[in-house]
Amino acid sequence: MHDHLIRATAPGIRAFAAVTTKLVEEARRRHDCFPVATAALGRTMTGALLLAANLKTAESLTVRISGNGPLGEIVADAAPDGSVRGYVRNPVVDLPLHNGKLDVGRAVGSGHIHITRFVGLKQPFTGSTALVSGEIAEDITQYLTVSEQTPSSVALGVLIAPDTSTLAAGGFFIQALPDAEEDALIKLETNLRQNPSVSHMVHSGRDAKGILETVFAGLPVNFYDSLDLRFNCQCSRARVQNMLISLGAEELKAMTAEGRAEVCCHFCNEKYQFNTTELAAILKLLQTK
Ligand SMILES: [Zn+2]
Repeated sequence: MHDHLIRATAPGIRAFAAVTTKLVEEARRRHDCFPVATAALGRTMTGALLLAANLKTAESLTVRISGNGPLGEIVADAAPDGSVRGYVRNPVVDLPLHNGKLDVGRAVGSGHIHITRFVGLKQPFTGSTALVSGEIAEDITQYLTVSEQTPSSVALGVLIAPDTSTLAAGGFFIQALPDAEEDALIKLETNLRQNPSVSHMVHSGRDAKGILETVFAGLPVNFYDSLDLRFNCQCSRARVQNMLISLGAEELKAMTAEGRAEVCCHFCNEKYQFNTTELAAILKLLQTK
C-alpha cells in the first residue's frame, strides 16, 4: 500500500488519517535507526503530516520533541502537499521492552513539545507545552488542547518487524468543532476505547479511509480526496554550496587546506562532498561577490 492521507468530516467533527509505512521505513534506512528510534521518529513524522493537513497551501510546520531521554531531540517538518522530513539526534538507542512494547516514553524522556507554524511571509508562530508521557501522540493531543484549545484525539503507531524494518505505520487526528453533538462525541469515544491500535489497523491492511471507517463506525462520515505522502528533503548541492559561502573566506580557506569537506544534511543524512578544486572555486565565487 502506498503512503497516503485522507480528510473526512462527520457532523461537528473534522478528521484525518494517514498510512506512512514507506516513508517511516525510508527515514529508518536513511538514519540507521534502532527500533525505538524508528518508532519515535515515525510517530513524530506521522503526527506532523496529520497536523499539516489542516494548514493552508503555502504554510508548513515543524514538530520538535525536546526530551531529556537517550534519543535527544526529534524534529519533523511537514507541509500540506504531503511531504515530510525528519531526524532523531541519537538514532542508535537500545532499551528493554516495556510491557512487551518499545519504550518510546523512556527513550524520549521528559521535556517539551514545540510546534512552529510557518505562514508565508509573516513571522512564524511557535507554541510549546510540557511532554505528558513522551509517547508523542498524547503529547500532541495535550499540545492541541492547551495551546489551541481544541478538544482533539491523536493516535500514532509504528510496528517494527523482527529484522528491524518498518512493518506498518500510520495515525489519525480528530478534532471536535464547537458545533459537535454530544451523542456523536460519546459514540466516538466508545469506538476509540474499543478499536485496535492504529498500527495494527494498518498492518491488517486497512487504508486511511478504512481506519476512519473503523473509528467512526455508526456515525455518518464524508470523505474527501486522498493525498499521496512522501519523505522529501529540500536540501541540494546548490543549497549546501550557498551555506559554505556563508561560512566566509577564512573557513573556506581552512577547508581547502584540509583538502576536502563533507557536509551532511541533518534531515535526510545525505552527504555532500567537496574536493580542493571545488572548494577553491567556491572561495573564488565568494571573493568576486
Ligand atoms: Zn536533506
